[in-house]
Amino acid sequence: MTSLVLDMVAAPYGHLCCACRETGDTLHVRLYLGKECLREAHVCSGCLGVGAEVEFALPEKVMKSQAVLRESQRLEQGLANDMGGRPQAGSGNSTLPGLRGDVRVEGKWRLQHKFSDGLKGTRLKLSDMADTIRVAAPNEMPVMIIEFRRLRESLAVLPYNTFLEIKEALNADEDS
Ligand SMILES: [Zn+2]
Repeated sequence: MTSLVLDMVAAPYGHLCCACRETGDTLHVRLYLGKECLREAHVCSGCLGVGAEVEFALPEKVMKSQAVLRESQRLEQGLANDMGGRPQAGSGNSTLPGLRGDVRVEGKWRLQHKFSDGLKGTRLKLSDMADTIRVAAPNEMPVMIIEFRRLRESLAVLPYNTFLEIKEALNADEDS
């Protein structure tokens, strides 16, 4: 995942301070998103001494990914409520785009949640299903929930073996 990095280096004499607009010894402050420098500013030692504030407007793409993350967490919580489980800590920030949420109903279900704004569909990757199976405990059924937000439609995708297990369980219920 790409991270925001604040880089600060003392600069040689001769830079304009962004706070007091005077030239002097400055601290060169740079904000990076991955390797891309988004913003930079110089702050003089005088201004640093009294606590200068350097304003960095968050770039649009960061704002967007935060909005996506929040939305993903909201949908994940909805799934947890439906299933009577709980979202797993630290999930949902794994990969962008195609954020995955992770909900667990201990001893029963392990669900990965994805959402898509596609109107025709989304790419289903076997590696995503493999991840879901990998994190599920032996007594938990792995299921991927794919939510098409704009179509207000959701699909549950599960391994064929899991499907057979559920079928067997339903048969057993009927027989008893
Ligand atoms: Zn200054």
